[in-house]
Amino acid sequence: MKKYVKFNKEKILIVNKKYKLSRFFNPKKLNKELLIQYDKMWRQAQEDKINLHIVSGYRSYKYQQKLLKEYLRVDNIENIKKYLAMPGYSEHQTGLAIDLVNTESKLIKKHHKEYKWLYHNSYKFGFILRYPKGKKLITGYKYEPWHFRYVGKNLAKELYNNGDYLTLEEYFQLNNKKR
Ligand SMILES: [Zn+2]
Repeated sequence: MKKYVKFNKEKILIVNKKYKLSRFFNPKKLNKELLIQYDKMWRQAQEDKINLHIVSGYRSYKYQQKLLKEYLRVDNIENIKKYLAMPGYSEHQTGLAIDLVNTESKLIKKHHKEYKWLYHNSYKFGFILRYPKGKKLITGYKYEPWHFRYVGKNLAKELYNNGDYLTLEEYFQLNNKKR
């Protein structure tokens, strides 16, 4: 399986079902820049009466491995692959992805007001909706309204302005390239 791709010019790390991280890729915590921008976003959201909380941030290769082991006791690998990212394939291992919940501690869903706010504001702080609706064939993931990826303000703005959050795979034409 292919290793992860890093675009040097943009410094954008790509992890998906084709491109994996090694078990030695271990930032140990959420990216510093992400946390600074998240803090700013959180404050702006509060001002707009929107409550946001991170329910899941950095997840290590080992953690994903542990989960896999636990699930293997009760389910088979083909089934598990449908709902769990295999070790090395989770974007959470990059330290650049967050899952968000609202005040009622529910994962952000399409009909939540928090989602509407995030959809139109998160790019201003460098975040993108990583798995938009109807892009499963491109990203490899079904729609996840709660999963946001930090890519920096410039790229986030560009992806947002391309309508419905252009995916990283589309922007970098990953599915067309032979690597
Ligand atoms: Zn997630």
